[in-house]
Amino acid sequence: MSLKKKRLNMLQSKPRRPKLRFTPTAWAKLLFLRDLGPTEVGAFGVTRPGDLLLVDEIQLVHQRCTETFVAFDDIAVAEHFETQADLGRRPEQCGRIWIHTHPGNSPHPSRVDVQTFHRVFGQCDWAVMFIIARGGQAYAELSWRHGGPASIRLGVEVDYSQPFAGCDHDLWEHEYLTRVENHAQFDPQLMDYEDDWLRVSPLGAGTDRESVVYRRPHELPIHRESTEPAPF
Ligand SMILES: [Zn+2]
Repeated sequence: MSLKKKRLNMLQSKPRRPKLRFTPTAWAKLLFLRDLGPTEVGAFGVTRPGDLLLVDEIQLVHQRCTETFVAFDDIAVAEHFETQADLGRRPEQCGRIWIHTHPGNSPHPSRVDVQTFHRVFGQCDWAVMFIIARGGQAYAELSWRHGGPASIRLGVEVDYSQPFAGCDHDLWEHEYLTRVENHAQFDPQLMDYEDDWLRVSPLGAGTDRESVVYRRPHELPIHRESTEPAPF
């Protein structure tokens, strides 16, 4: 191939979009939890130290949910980080991928989702918001602070090269029943439920308004094309 053609091909070839990947077991658990009740369900995606975009485990924390809203309990979030630290995991392995389900067909983040993501995770070096709709569509966004704030859409993939550890529906259902409180209607008091968890989790660093890394809730990241390198 001539040099000219090669250059042309390079210009025409689509940039490779980084992917958020799931192990088959994590994916099976996520779909199972999504379909158990009528409301949204939220979780943290847990990853391995060497592969921070491969979700290995779906970790539920105590939460109150409606059809359009999820609020994590602040104490449960603190306990989640403690438990994960005891297992030798660092916050970037267990507190950077925020997952929730949508009971309808649209995986696109609501205004509240966007605000929550940037309020809660805006002080982290990087974080991912992942939404899976009951209809099967998914949305993943990686946001990062350094050199930004900026964010890109991620591709989503189940990594079938990973071993499938099988399903444990009884255990997963037990987790769901003990940690997910369904509420038929939105109540403003639900918002209070998660007010403090920024302060009790390692994500809370920098939420002090005087801090140099404090970001105002309305200061949303600039969307960039996926040619931008991911921060790792
Ligand atoms: Zn949502």
